[in-house]
Amino acid sequence: MATVHSSVQQTIDLFDRYVIANYKRFPVCLVRGSGSRVWDSEGTRYLDLFPGWGCNLLGHCPEPVVRAVQEQVATLIHVPNTWYTEPQGLWAEALSKISFGGQAFFCNSGTEANEAAIKLVRLRTNGVRYKIVTFRGGFHGRTLGSVSATAQPKYHEGLGPIVAGFQYAPHGDLEAVEQLIDEHTGGILVEPILGEGGIVPAPPGFLEGLRRIANERDLLLVFDEVQSGCGRTGKWFGYQHFGVVPDVITLAKSLCAGVAGGAMLTTVELARHLRPGMHAATFGGNPLAARAGLAAIEMIQREGLLANVSVMAAIFKSRLDELATRCPMVRDVRVIGMMIGIELAVDGAPVVQACLDKGVLVNCTQQNTIRLLPAMNISADEAHEGCDILSEAIMEVASSVS
Ligand SMILES: *Cc1c(COP(=O)(O)O)cnc(C)c1O
Repeated sequence: MATVHSSVQQTIDLFDRYVIANYKRFPVCLVRGSGSRVWDSEGTRYLDLFPGWGCNLLGHCPEPVVRAVQEQVATLIHVPNTWYTEPQGLWAEALSKISFGGQAFFCNSGTEANEAAIKLVRLRTNGVRYKIVTFRGGFHGRTLGSVSATAQPKYHEGLGPIVAGFQYAPHGDLEAVEQLIDEHTGGILVEPILGEGGIVPAPPGFLEGLRRIANERDLLLVFDEVQSGCGRTGKWFGYQHFGVVPDVITLAKSLCAGVAGGAMLTTVELARHLRPGMHAATFGGNPLAARAGLAAIEMIQREGLLANVSVMAAIFKSRLDELATRCPMVRDVRVIGMMIGIELAVDGAPVVQACLDKGVLVNCTQQNTIRLLPAMNISADEAHEGCDILSEAIMEVASSVS
């Protein structure tokens, strides 16, 4: 079918009729993107500080990823995992080299990557030690296992009995973790930097403490790096900021720079617990995702983007800290590479709307935290422009509420 150029209202009408209304959407229809810019169907251009909900790690349509996918899509789109394909092998090798040298299981999303990790924890002891400690404020996905791992009651509402075996501890509380562990506990699952929870890095000593407890009690330490992984923080993985090496990491969102893909990485020794037939994902590691994932890693290396993240993070940090000194409505500014949280004393929705009206796309999480997940290759000019407009929007909202 040829593309029909309809008005925004016509597209909204189509959605109202045919798309399940499980998302709140802005009345904007996006049609095209390039780098940190995106255009809507009316021709309005936006600066996107939250590209792809964190999936578009290298901005919209990064050229090397586009080229790799274009080449692959015309060659071999998909074959099942009963066959070998070179892209999947090369992708696994690349991930192993930038992490802790283990092996990969491929899937299509973050929640699936976490399901794989949950199963690995259980399979290691044949289901005897099935319990997993997770943390309040964490987020691990929407399938029943991962949502049960997510210690936020709002995600459990109306679902009836959730999956048994998850034990929730307050984030940062090592003593609570020790108290929850019993002879049926097999693992600890934690985001090294809370994402949906408001861009909150692990407090000092917390991850080190979890590593020590995991060692003492023979538990698997699983880091959910779906949001913090793949270079976003200025290191390949969030855990590399803390000097603590987990047994398992889960990845998705930015893994394939905007193409759907997920992965669980673990050590060679632990990977042996996943034998043929025990777990699978039909589309997992498909040639398109593999080429995109590989192209993303190569682009980050070739263009020195880990270093760019540190430089851009310093710009955001100084500009937003300066804003906080002028504007008491800004309670806290947290910048870990291109993971940025601006905690407000008020509801953040009006700020998101004010930014949209001024042509800048941002997000709000936990009601009061403006969240930015800018592309790793954002420019200094774009970072300053974003800070200018965001500051303006926050000051406007501050003056209207005071
Ligand atoms: C988004 C997210 C998930 C879920 O990923 P999906 O691809 O939406 O299933 C899991 N964990 C973290 C930390 C996330 O940010």
